[in-house]
Amino acid sequence: MMNRRGFARQVAVSAPLMAAMGAMAEGGQQAGSTAAAPPPGRGPMDGSPVGDMLPGQKWRVHDRGRTQPRKVRPGSPVPTPSAPSDATVLFGGKDLSAWRGRARGGVEGEPRWKVENGYMELVPGAGSLVTKESFGDVQLHLEWTTPAGADASRVGQFRGNSGVILMGRYEVQVLSSYNNPTYPDGSAGAIYGLYPPMVNPCLPEGEWNSYDLAFEAPRFDGEKLTKAAYVTLFFNGVLVHNRAELLGVTSREPIAAYSPHAPELPLVLQGHAGPARFRNIWIRRLRGYDG
Ligand code: MG
Repeated sequence: MMNRRGFARQVAVSAPLMAAMGAMAEGGQQAGSTAAAPPPGRGPMDGSPVGDMLPGQKWRVHDRGRTQPRKVRPGSPVPTPSAPSDATVLFGGKDLSAWRGRARGGVEGEPRWKVENGYMELVPGAGSLVTKESFGDVQLHLEWTTPAGADASRVGQFRGNSGVILMGRYEVQVLSSYNNPTYPDGSAGAIYGLYPPMVNPCLPEGEWNSYDLAFEAPRFDGEKLTKAAYVTLFFNGVLVHNRAELLGVTSREPIAAYSPHAPELPLVLQGHAGPARFRNIWIRRLRGYDG
């Protein structure tokens, strides 16, 4: 079970997102609207406010002045490998049997994402998805897209926002980032609030992107961190994080920090602004050499 510090941290992480979601709901967005100008509070750089200075960097969390990741056109086709024999298939195109749903406030129940045409889709108000199984060190493959034709007034963090949240704590961002500027540490492929992707290989809306990710879970000895978490990410076959060291649980303010947790925890797909679709999701536990 999560201790009080962990819970407080999670609340701190969730609060700005929930506030943003509340602002969205209050915005009275018209379904199917094609207005080009975003409403007040919904511009390219809107979203979670600027946070604390990042240790070892010259930027603040969500720094609007940070250098935008350079655009790169990925090779073709982008990697879409089927699951190796020792992988756990989390979504094979048909059902959400590997997942539970998680609503605001952390209440878990039946998953409410839509499944059709071989993908699953984050629909407004559907909450997050949480794997039934728990994982620590992993290799993860998934494919995602933000559907074309979504409301053009939804920009920045409000366009296609979801996320791959490792151990329910460490978020790799999913966002429509082909032509949708936002604060760089919140763009697609970012380790949210810490590192932008080194480059931006995101494809246009409607085209499928792929993430091939290696994650090393943090280690703790009681309350003490003995090894940080690390993320390596190939985004459409392009390396965007090379064993990046995480500062801790995704957070804006106070700055990310670790809080002890179990060696294995569920993977979460974030219920945020969406819409976002996922397919071909599989995960492998990493057992190291001679394992
Ligand atoms: Mg997100």
